[in-house]
Amino acid sequence: MRAICDYCGKEVDVLLYQAKDTYKVKGEDITIDVTICKCSCCGEDIWVSDVDNNNLRTAYNEYRKKHQLLTPDQIKGIREKYGLSQVSFAKLLGFGEKTIARYENGSIQDEAHNNLMMLVDEPQNLKKLYDRKKYCIPMMEQFSVNARMYTNAQNIAYSRGKPSYQIRLSSSEKTEQYDDMEVYA
Ligand SMILES: [Zn+2]
Repeated sequence: MRAICDYCGKEVDVLLYQAKDTYKVKGEDITIDVTICKCSCCGEDIWVSDVDNNNLRTAYNEYRKKHQLLTPDQIKGIREKYGLSQVSFAKLLGFGEKTIARYENGSIQDEAHNNLMMLVDEPQNLKKLYDRKKYCIPMMEQFSVNARMYTNAQNIAYSRGKPSYQIRLSSSEKTEQYDDMEVYA
């Protein structure tokens, strides 16, 4: 790799070293293995944005692991399971419109938001929110969510060895037929 060294005032070969470094993530010290770039001529540190961004990502992931938070990919996976846009998913959850986009791009969610997103990974939990707030998402997405909540609930029912049309919706003994779900609400 080559980069500009400010001390030598020219493009130089970059040498990579491994070291420990401590980052502040949400006010907390997170120590990780980082990659450091040095000039092959004068030995001074060189800032290379890709390498630095990668170190920062590693620190964020370490923080997520420590606090058992969903990763950006996991958040995206839950959202896409229901065919929701970032804005619609945020609206259903009662977040600001741009919040999900920020999380999927690497911002770290607080614990309350994290817990809510974890809970709606279960289709019956998403359905509870959806039934109250579907008016705030576009009609085409409502079709998609309906179909996918049904499919995901079916898959869960299969995996639990129950008939596909009977899904337990709560911890009580009450069951409900997903076939009866309104599509044109
Ligand atoms: Zn140099």
